[in-house]
Amino acid sequence: MSTIDILLQKAKEFHGEICPGIVMGTRMTIAGMRELDMDPLLKTQDLIVYVEIDRCATDAIQAITGVSLGHRSLKFMNYGKFAATFINTQTGKAVRVSALPKNSDQPKDMKEVAKMICNAPEEEIFKIQKVHVDIPKEDLPGFPTHKDVCSRCGEGIMDSKEIIIEGKAVCKNCAQGSYYTII
Ligand SMILES: [Zn+2]
Ligand SMILES: [Zn+2]
Repeated sequence: MSTIDILLQKAKEFHGEICPGIVMGTRMTIAGMRELDMDPLLKTQDLIVYVEIDRCATDAIQAITGVSLGHRSLKFMNYGKFAATFINTQTGKAVRVSALPKNSDQPKDMKEVAKMICNAPEEEIFKIQKVHVDIPKEDLPGFPTHKDVCSRCGEGIMDSKEIIIEGKAVCKNCAQGSYYTII
């Protein structure tokens, strides 16, 4: 089996199917890791990935590389863009791979689209940029460096995510409004 087939298989096991997004995420991972001199077939602890979308491609990146939110090696930036930045924490090298806008004459059948993305020359589907990422200290994997308690709701806050208002720690839910309302 070729490298891409092995990686697609891994992504399929995690995601459930090989859809266009999975092929895209798999190729993004191959491109990103190559630029960092890393092998996508080998497990590594030295990779952090910032993803810019919560869609299929992200599952491929997670399944292949093993990065995860729980390990703090997967960072989610909610930009709605098929893009991801791969960072080799050993060398500090970082590369952002983003999908180029699709041309309009795409086939309707999703299997055909997946095949097309699979076979397309890399420069036709991706923009690749060398970038620099300052990962905030408190966002790195490892033991928490700081914990606090919200002065309004009394809930614990990890990793310096509190906001100081009038000298007191306030969680983001209380300070900025939350995604939920209590009923
Ligand atoms: Zn999918
Ligand atoms: Zn609070």
